Amino acid sequence: MPSSFKVELSRDRCEVRVGAGLLNNCGALARQSGVEPTRCAIVTDANVAPRYLSAATDSLRAAGFDPVGVEIDPGELSKSLGTVGEIFDRLVQHELDRKSSIFALGGGVVGDIAGLVASTFMRGITLVQIPTTLVGQVDSALGGKNGVNHRDAKNLIGTFYQPRLVIADISTLATLPEREFREGLAEVIKYAAILEARMVDDLEREMPAIIARGPQALEAIVTRSLRHKADVIEHDEREHGRRALLNFGHTIGHALESSSGYGTLLHGEAVSIGMRAAARLSCQLTGLPSDQERRLLKLLRIAGLPVEMPEDWHNEHFIRALRLDKKRSDGGINFILLSEIGRPLIRRLELDQILGGLR
Ligand code: NAD
Repeated sequence: MPSSFKVELSRDRCEVRVGAGLLNNCGALARQSGVEPTRCAIVTDANVAPRYLSAATDSLRAAGFDPVGVEIDPGELSKSLGTVGEIFDRLVQHELDRKSSIFALGGGVVGDIAGLVASTFMRGITLVQIPTTLVGQVDSALGGKNGVNHRDAKNLIGTFYQPRLVIADISTLATLPEREFREGLAEVIKYAAILEARMVDDLEREMPAIIARGPQALEAIVTRSLRHKADVIEHDEREHGRRALLNFGHTIGHALESSSGYGTLLHGEAVSIGMRAAARLSCQLTGLPSDQERRLLKLLRIAGLPVEMPEDWHNEHFIRALRLDKKRSDGGINFILLSEIGRPLIRRLELDQILGGLR
């Protein structure tokens, strides 16, 4: 059964739809959410386009839109200002205007780039997110954070800009390669670790059905994850407090992603290693019981995610990435730790404390 709910934000409302086969109906769903049926761009990548672009185009046309496809190269290396510039060129060439909209059809990379484009083209046009990866469906498509990478740091350039609508069609997950599917489980485990201890019990039980991509299991876990995210961003849209908790595992994760060369470790893989490291630091600094650390570790392993720091992690790129993080947060590094599963806290740590805990 498809589910839908609304997320109330300071200036906007975002509608969320989760279910099987929704892509074929994306045009009608967009109309129902008040998106004007004008010329629009479907931003997608070269892996997603052959599979899903024509379904999206047909559905939008049937609902009165005039869609054009804009394709980018797949992968994290595309998250650059160069790609943003190329998309602007295409939007101008196709004469999109202030009433036009952008549909982001793809994973977190497409969603983050298209979100930045939508927030800046003509000072902001309507955005619809149609995530086709697990990372996109459980996390990145909702919440309004977008951006591209700087050579030295992840997501350094970006804005907050809310989509009008998120359509998570779980049928699209059927074609996702195994490694890309499993990386999405890192963000699912993150919600359990920081927000809901009972979800850890449920994941221990249901992981086989999720990994087998059973439609019911997928729909349930995508909906549950998005509801957690919605609850956090409704209370703290711009990350002044509670939203920062969602960065559990991300401080180390982002530093690993940028220091290993974007694309070597997938985002979710880097976050998995980062969560394991944060759980260890939590045992040392904030009293996370070691049996709870072991449960998290086991869950990450069952999900098929890497948990060990790469052998060459201690290098100048990794430290530079953490230093940049420190600059962004005025001094110490704001680090998310746990006192128990489901009880996160923010601690300001010194660089040496983090490096010491990783050794
Ligand atoms: P991705 O977008 O690179 O997609 C992974 C791969 O799967 C790509 O090669 C893509 O072409 C392919 N693909 C996508 N959908 C497919 C499908 N249905 N079938 C077959 N192949 C498909 O990566 P991702 O893991 O979705 O997203 C990671 C990115 O998301 C990172 O850049 C990360 O920083 C970002 N992110 C952003 C937020 C946020 O709040 N904005 C949150 C989490 C992650």
